[in-house]
Order: sequence, then structure tokens, then C-alpha cells
Amino acid sequence: MLIDTHAHIYWDSYDSDRDEVLKRALDAGVKYIICPGTDLETSVKAIELAEKYDFVYAGVGFHPHDASKADEKSLEKIEELSYHPKVVAIGEIGLDFHYNFSPKEVQIDIFRKQIKIAKRRNLPVIIHNRESHKEIFEVLESEIDDKWTGFGKLADGKLPPPRGVFHTYSGSVRDAWRAINLGFYISISGVVTFKNAGDVVKVVKEIQPEHLLVETDSPFLAPQPFRGKRNEPMYVKFVAEKIAQIQGFTLEDIERTTSFNVYRLFRIGEKPEPKIVYKIKNSLYLNLTLRCNADCIFCDRKGEAIVKGYSLKIDREPSAEELIKEIGDPSKYDEVVFVGYGEPTIRLDVIKEVAKYVKERGGRTRLDTDGHGNVINKRNIVPELVGLIDSVSISLNSMDPVEYGRLMNIDGERYYKAMIDFAKECKKYGIETTMTIVGVDGIDVERHRKFVEEEIGVKFRFRPLF
Ligand code: SF4
Ligand SMILES: [Zn+2]
Repeated sequence: MLIDTHAHIYWDSYDSDRDEVLKRALDAGVKYIICPGTDLETSVKAIELAEKYDFVYAGVGFHPHDASKADEKSLEKIEELSYHPKVVAIGEIGLDFHYNFSPKEVQIDIFRKQIKIAKRRNLPVIIHNRESHKEIFEVLESEIDDKWTGFGKLADGKLPPPRGVFHTYSGSVRDAWRAINLGFYISISGVVTFKNAGDVVKVVKEIQPEHLLVETDSPFLAPQPFRGKRNEPMYVKFVAEKIAQIQGFTLEDIERTTSFNVYRLFRIGEKPEPKIVYKIKNSLYLNLTLRCNADCIFCDRKGEAIVKGYSLKIDREPSAEELIKEIGDPSKYDEVVFVGYGEPTIRLDVIKEVAKYVKERGGRTRLDTDGHGNVINKRNIVPELVGLIDSVSISLNSMDPVEYGRLMNIDGERYYKAMIDFAKECKKYGIETTMTIVGVDGIDVERHRKFVEEEIGVKFRFRPLF
């Protein structure tokens, strides 16, 4: 399921075949289309299309090119239109200092006024930003407050509330993170398929799908191999495929993750059902528990507990039989991973029983852990894992015990030592061992790599925060 989050399907180039264009999109697996207006007239047209087709939703607002057309009265009208049940955003709005079709000061003024409408209505915004990064962030950073939550969080999580999207993102990786930290998604268009895509490819390499949306920007920016022709929503697939290829995920991984992002931002579609097993790439993950002995500052276990578009928010822990039934033939997968949005060694017996099943049927197993299993189970559990678990991945988080304790909200000295001992013990027993750190601000990756590889003597992996 794909969602084209930005298509101007009211454009007159579709006047002769709009029905066919939309039908082709549906046939190609596009489930929803968001159609943003660029002035009063096209905002009304976007709503009319949303009324005509159930899978179309609308945005209302003045594009920066049309900012000089906006006055008090027309902005009031935009606010009125935003009450329509199929309006999911204020947009597209923003700044464009490349063309400067409207004077800069007017663009900034109208952008700010429309942000205020979005805040009053508690709606997300669809942002157009070209060669205006500095001013866009100045306006956003001065306007954002805790009351502006868009459609709100699903639960009391640690992510910023979803406030909007930077459409056809064309900025740097650094600015992308700045936007994400303000509660914005980064929307990728067909530009990513161009030979001269430049920074967009860098952004897709660095930014995980948890922060991305996909769009066509129809009728503009047709992706390869249609570059230069009229674009249409069905081509959003080429964008998603390119992202999957760059990031090493499957197309389904990108579809599922970005669809959840659309649900979170615009409340279009459905909230995913909690899963006890889930597939990412060609690995099968077992969601053993939501319980954990730690409480990491970056962990969203008590919040939405979403991983790559799957909800892990189970209300009951699965039994070994339930897991085995869901696994089926484990040899189909690259590996079966014992994990959870929690610490899996809390359920050691289940791990052992299920791992035995997987190993007997030719599967590979991995345990993802915080490395506190020996403390949790009050004995050295590593000998019990031999022959059942092929590889172990341990979150190192930090090589400074005080910082370790701060990040995980636990007794740093005690658990740091337990985690290091666990890693050494796994190595001693011949289990393939990796220690990971997540990309929190300011972390010295190379220092950690050296420590893990040279002092502990196991593999090192750096992974992005999400
Ligand atoms: S150890 Fe893992 S599951 Fe536990 S709080 Fe930290 S990040 Fe969350
Ligand atoms: Zn647009």
C-alpha cells in the first residue's frame, strides 16, 4: 500500500483523463492521495475532488508563489475551508526564494499567518521550501509550541508530535534532522531517481524511513524513466522503490513504514494492529515482551512502540506455542530474531524453547539484548544459549558507566559491568557477538568502535536512532 502525499490532481493537464489517471493509481496499489491547494481557487478544487473520490484528501492554503494574492479575507476563507472533514492539512504553504514570484517579506508574512491558522486548528502543515532554509526555520522555531500537536500522539511517547512535512525535500542532512526534531517528516519525490539527485540521495542514505513520506508532486517532477513527461500518482512506486534500493529495505518495508507515518501525521488509513512476529527485510522478529529492566531516555516502549510501521504494543506476552505457530518454516528467513520492545531475556525459557524449534528446522537465530540477562536471571545464562542462539547483539549505548546509567535510567556502574561481562562471556562461548551504539547527538563513534573491536574483541555496529 502506497500513499502519494502530494499530487495537484486538479491541474488542468488532467482535465481530459482525470478519472483514468486516478483509476490507474488505484490499480497500481496507491491507496490514498493528498491533494494540496496552492491558493483559494485550487484549495476549493482540491476539496471538490476529495468529495468526489473517497481515497483523495485535501490540503488548503496559499503557496509562496501566490502569497501576494492572499489577504485577510482569503486567509479567513482558508481557515473556514479547513473545517471540511476531508481537509487534513494547511498547505501547501512556505517560502520560495528561488523564483521569488511574491516578494520575500510578503511570503514570510503569509507563511506565518498560515502557520497560525494551522495552530488554531491544530492541523499539520505541508511545507514548500526552496532556497529559504534559514527563514523557514526561523518562522517554524518561533511559532512551534507544545499546544500544536497536529492530530496528536497515539500515546505518551518520546517523539515530537507530528506537525507537518517538508515536501519534495531538497535540503541538507543537517536541516532534515532539524526539521525532524521539530516534528516534521521529510517527503521524497521523483527527484531521488534523477541522475543529478545530489543531496536527496544523501538524505535518504542517512534518514531512516521512520521519518520519510513519499510523493509525486504531480503533474511535476516525473521520476525516471518518465522524467520530463506529465507525472501522475501511480509513479509514486518508483520513488518508494528507489528509497528501498538506497536503504537496503524491501519495497514492503518502505510502504508499511511510510503509510504509518501518513496515519500518524494526517490520520489517514488505519492504526496498525499489534504484532507478535513481524518481518523486516528477510528477517523474522519475535516480539517477546514490552517489559524491560531499564528505561532508556530514547526508548519509545511506553509510547507508540512502533517499529518500521508495525505496532509492538501487545497487551499480552505471546507463549512459545503461539510464536512457533507464527514462525512456520524458519529456514525461509535469513534469521529469526528474539527481541521485543523490551528486554527479551526476561523471558529466557520462551527464548530457549522457540530457539530449539528454529535450530531443529535449519533456521538461524539472533538475540537482541541490553546484556543484563545474567542479572535478570540471577545466573550465568550464556552456557544455556550455546547451540540455540547463533548470534547476540548487545546495546553498548555508552562506554562511560555514568553516561550509561544516565541514558538507561539504571545503576550505571553495576549494569555497565554486567553488560561488558555478558559480552565477554558470549565471546568465550563462541557465540557471534556484536555490540551496537545508537546515533544520539555527539556520540564518538570511532572511539566506541575501537573499544569494542580492540578491547572486547567482538564486532561493532553503529545504528541510527530510529
Ligand atoms: S533496553 Fe531497550 S527496551 Fe529497554 S528501555 Fe532501553 S531501549 Fe527500551
Ligand atoms: Zn506542490
